[in-house]
Order: sequence, then structure tokens, then C-alpha cells
Amino acid sequence: MVENLAIVGSGPAGYTAGLYAARANLEPILFEGLESGGQLMLTTDVENYPGFKDGIMGPELMQEFKTQAEKFGTKIIPLTVSSIKETSEGFELFTSKDIYLSRAVIISSGASAKWLDIEGEKRLQGYGVSACATCDGFFFKDKVVAVVGGGDSAMEEALFLTKFAEKVHIVHRRDSFRASAIMQKRVLDHEKIEILWNKEVSIINGEDSVSSIGLKDTGDGSVSELEVNAVFVAIGHTPNVGFLDNLLELDEKGYIKTGFTTPTSTSKDGIFAAGDVADSIYRQAVTAAGTGCQSAMDAERWLES
Ligand code: NAP
Repeated sequence: MVENLAIVGSGPAGYTAGLYAARANLEPILFEGLESGGQLMLTTDVENYPGFKDGIMGPELMQEFKTQAEKFGTKIIPLTVSSIKETSEGFELFTSKDIYLSRAVIISSGASAKWLDIEGEKRLQGYGVSACATCDGFFFKDKVVAVVGGGDSAMEEALFLTKFAEKVHIVHRRDSFRASAIMQKRVLDHEKIEILWNKEVSIINGEDSVSSIGLKDTGDGSVSELEVNAVFVAIGHTPNVGFLDNLLELDEKGYIKTGFTTPTSTSKDGIFAAGDVADSIYRQAVTAAGTGCQSAMDAERWLES
């Protein structure tokens, strides 16, 4: 059976693409993937998604997205696409179970957390090293924790951790944050949060769990040690493009290049991209949803033509 449209990924971009494509009678299939719901599943309050003046919890928002896409006929497939191959009839999408064939494809596979790539980080993952305060913060009640990074994610993680931890250190490699003004202010005003400016984490120590981190001063190179029970890494994300295996052109940062014929078109005719996997700049739920809508409309016109 040849599908009209296959959507790969289930964040705001994927579900919005599903909603629009289903309402255009394309009967889209949507591969949910391993991280169903995308990055918003790992956040708490979302205060900047329009339409929710009192904010909404990330997982709740994604459930609404999913329900709305399904309501109009998007078929959700709880599988991960491991590779895509072009054929004369369209594109073959390989999963752990079946191979699906579709005339058009929208890639909305999002982005995943980056790691520091330092000694101790991998070994102690799950034992005090985490990239998700929402998932793991609870385990550090009355403990001392460190958050690495200076963007909105780091601010959000640090603020969330203050609900449990006795003290939260933010380790940032420069002397100013890149986070939005409102998030910076909340962090700087918080009595439980201390900022360690111009510092890089050089090592994470601990036998069975995190006991301390090594800090290197980015100015004079001096090294010190800080006792912490956990390290939350919040230094940004990398786009999930591994499964594409050079099928599409990427930009210099590794994100899918778009805008070839229509805004969401890629270097391969019939494949469109939406959301964080093709956006190194804005990376917001609302912009992902916006490009998800565009990609469905682009795919619909492409299928018609
Ligand atoms: P980001 O804005 O790219 O910030 C990453 C931070 O990590 C930067 O401060 C960067 O330092 C630091 N960093 C990167 N690599 C590092 C390394 N190897 N070692 C140490 N530090 C490193 O990423 P983000 O915070 O995940 O945010 C991504 C996007 O999502 C942004 O557009 C943000 O506004 C949005 N977002 C919004 C919200 C919200 O509104 N509630 C919440 C989360 C995310 P430098 O500053 O020195 O480069």
C-alpha cells in the first residue's frame, strides 16, 4: 500500500503537520518515535504558547496536539523510522517492524540534548548526571546540584530544581547569559541559585553517584572542585538527522536545509522538513507548529501537482 504522506516525529511540528494534512484528506501516517511528544514532554510549565494565558504543562499540551491530530484522521504509528530510501513509487520508510511506502514525507524528528563529552559524564548518567530536571530533579531533595549552560533551558532547569534541591549552582562558561530577560531575572533573583561565571566543567567525579565536579576558570585557567550530588547538562540540542544517512542536504550546523522550492522543501523532491530539525535559530514550540502547518500545505500542493 502506498501512503500519501508519512510524517516522521511527534513534536509540535509533526502533530500540526498531521492535523493539517488530515484535514486536507491526505490520510497521513505519523511515526511517533521513541521520544513521543518531543522535547515538551520534558518540560514543566509552558508559558509562551499562545492561547494559554495561565500556562500549560508541556506533556498536557502535547497530549492536546496528539488528540487533535488523531481526531481528524492522522494515523499514529508507535514506531521509530530507522532509515528512508527513495524508490520509483516514492519513499520507503524502514522501522523495526515493517517497511512503509509513501509518496511524500515530512521530517519533524526534532532535536536531542547535547552532552559535554567529559570524563565521568557517560559513566554517571542515571547516577546523578542528567539532561532532564523534570525527569530526575525529584531524586535530589535537599541536595546540592549544578546546572551547566546559560540559555533558557539552563534557567528553566535551575528554577525547576529549586523546588527540590537545597542549593543550585549554575555553571556558565561566559560572564553573561543568552537566556531571555525574564528567565534571567527569575534566576538572578532566586535565593537558592548561585551563578558560577566563566567556568567550565572539566570532570564529573564519583564512584557510584556524582560527588563533585572539576571547574576550570575560562579566564586564568585555574582549576577548582565543587561538591555536588548531581549535574544537569542544559547546553542546547543537536538535530535528529542520523537516520537520514545523507539523504538530505544539511546546513553548516547540521540542520536540514530547507527553502529549495517552497519554504519547507528540502534538497530531495517530495521530502519536506519542519520544526527543530530544520531550525537552528528560533526552536520554539510555536515556530515548530507554524512550520509543521507550512510543511503539510507544501506537501499537499506537491502531491496535487
Ligand atoms: P541555547 O540557547 O543554545 O543555549 C545553550 C547554552 O549552553 C549557551 O549558554 C551556551 O554557552 C552553553 N553551551 C553550549 N555548549 C557548551 C559547552 N560545550 N560547554 C558549556 N556550555 C555550553 O540552548 P537552550 O537553552 O536549549 O535553548 C534553545 C532554544 O529554546 C532557545 O531559542 C530558547 O529560547 C528556547 N527555549 C525557550 C524556553 C522558554 O521560553 N521557556 C525554554 C527552553 C528553551 P554560550 O552562551 O557561551 O554559547
